Amino acid sequence: MSVLPKLLPVRVYGDAMLRMKALPVRNFDEKLQKIVRDMTHTMYERDGVGLAANQVGLNQRLFVIDMDYSREDSEPNPVVMINPVIKAGEGEYEMEEGCLSVPGIYAKVKRFNRIKYSYFDPAGEEHEEEAEGYKAVVIQHEYDHLNGILFVDKISKLALLKIKRKLKMIMSTAVDGKNIREDIYDPNVPKKG
Ligand SMILES: [Zn+2]
Repeated sequence: MSVLPKLLPVRVYGDAMLRMKALPVRNFDEKLQKIVRDMTHTMYERDGVGLAANQVGLNQRLFVIDMDYSREDSEPNPVVMINPVIKAGEGEYEMEEGCLSVPGIYAKVKRFNRIKYSYFDPAGEEHEEEAEGYKAVVIQHEYDHLNGILFVDKISKLALLKIKRKLKMIMSTAVDGKNIREDIYDPNVPKKG
């Protein structure tokens, strides 16, 4: 029996779930496979490069990433990382980041340029890998989510000052873990009640 994947509501800045330290995944069962399918579907539907489980209200240590995907010219190639551990990092890489949970806000964040990490795939097999540059940044961003950390926690004080009002606006919509509101994405759409 195959069930169509679900579009999961994405929690936004201000939601308590985003500040929790997620718990290790223990069972690599059918339920987990379903979570992985729904999260992957949601990431693509929302045009994300990555999505962590606590962003969709599941307090578990897993995320999905796909750096190469764009709707026009490439096939989806999602990588699911379960119980990931970043073991070492070196160098520095700074780029502008965004987040599905902090819609409409982009700011530069300094991170490691190169990381060593391990994770389990959905079949329960362990992987040890290294990444650098953009991929390393995406993994560090998603890994932070699992520890309750958001990219806006890591930006300069000046940059934070600039986005304060926008953050407050997002927070006001975060009341009960509702789905991302489309009008947050588009500044031309008037704010609805
Ligand atoms: Zn994020």
